[in-house]
Amino acid sequence: MNFQNTLAFAKQLDEQDELKQFRELFYFPIINGKEVIYFTGNSLGLQPKTTQDYVVDELEDWATFGVEGHFHARKPWMPYHEIFPRQLSKIIGCKENEVVVMNSLTVNLHLLMVTFYKPTKHRYKIICEAKAFPSDQYALESQVKYHGFAPEDAIIEVKPGEGEHSIRQEDIIAAIKQSNNQTALVLFGGVNYYTGQLFDMKSITEAAHSVGAYAGFDLAHAAGNVELHMHDWDVDFACWCSYKYLNSGPGGVGGVYIHERHASNTELPRFAGWWGYTKETRFKMDKGFEAIPTAEGWQLSNAPVLSMAAHKASLDIFDEAGIDKLHTKRRLLSGYLHYILNDLNSRQKEKLIEIITPADDNARGCQVSMLMLKEGKKIFDELTRQGVIADWREPNVIRVAPVPLYNSFEDIYRFGEIISSILK
Ligand SMILES: *Cc1c(COP(=O)(O)O)cnc(C)c1O
Repeated sequence: MNFQNTLAFAKQLDEQDELKQFRELFYFPIINGKEVIYFTGNSLGLQPKTTQDYVVDELEDWATFGVEGHFHARKPWMPYHEIFPRQLSKIIGCKENEVVVMNSLTVNLHLLMVTFYKPTKHRYKIICEAKAFPSDQYALESQVKYHGFAPEDAIIEVKPGEGEHSIRQEDIIAAIKQSNNQTALVLFGGVNYYTGQLFDMKSITEAAHSVGAYAGFDLAHAAGNVELHMHDWDVDFACWCSYKYLNSGPGGVGGVYIHERHASNTELPRFAGWWGYTKETRFKMDKGFEAIPTAEGWQLSNAPVLSMAAHKASLDIFDEAGIDKLHTKRRLLSGYLHYILNDLNSRQKEKLIEIITPADDNARGCQVSMLMLKEGKKIFDELTRQGVIADWREPNVIRVAPVPLYNSFEDIYRFGEIISSILK
């Protein structure tokens, strides 16, 4: 599309946007009496106006029924988590028996590694992206140490080329192929949290399998953001959080995908709890764990219903909008943001912003990361003062993520105008 850096053009795109009314379904924070331009849906998604009712319903049912709410609540609590697979399977691209909502992200990553990282003397390495999200780095490091290996030896990070910001696909594949059957696990983010690079998960999975390793993905920045086909790509496992693009509230409940060939294998080792136990006989409370033969077999505890209620409120909105329409709008939004930033740069005597997110919209999601070449923190603070909520990452990156459910093209145009005025 031929974009233009004018308010009229931005408004015209908004007018044509089939999803434009969804913005009304969310609360925007207010700064100086005005709704902010909110670009941090990659960090904490906005609150749907319906969330409160979903949570209050559960509080009411708790007041009304006490413990009987497990059976008599409007959405009975005992099988509460079972309301999610239908909706999440569309977002994650998997079968319903391959997905379960539970715990939080880093906890789930550890639980999945109990199953999928069982190193031996010869096969113990993990291949991951350089500059993975710190929690993932700590998880990998501590898992490796737990098994008696040294992180420097066991963890192979694939880095961007000299002077580059994105990791080349061929470098990832080469690193996997070169690992001489020493690799136990390939674990990448779906979208890197810092650069916004979207990895080719299908090829990474193929390469991992070709050397006899498992392939897993942390979808924190991918779930609800980019097209995912976990099952068709043959990915072994994945996990994500629900509070970023999935708008389910701070610290919201996480989710897990396990390919059905593993999910149905009740012999696979895991750390077990009563909620992963075969439902028919769970309450006999017999000795000896018998796993549910689906992703549910990895559950430990009964459902955190209040947090799940907020998750449900958000997923109902995703359902209504339709994931395909969201992807179409996402590409346009981030394309427009790229265009505006490039236009801005071209008007400066000296380049001030380097976009470190891939320009190819098949290699990125909503997020565009701006490496600030001068006065980055000052510009960022001024943006905040003027009502733009973006995200600062040391040493000098501003991350901006227009999301299709509630951001508009006008948001992006106005953002460009504000930066432009700050640069003057
Ligand atoms: C946001 C994020 C996390 C956060 O983990 P929690 O366990 O939810 O606190 C972990 N990993 C990645 C890649 C993230 O983007």
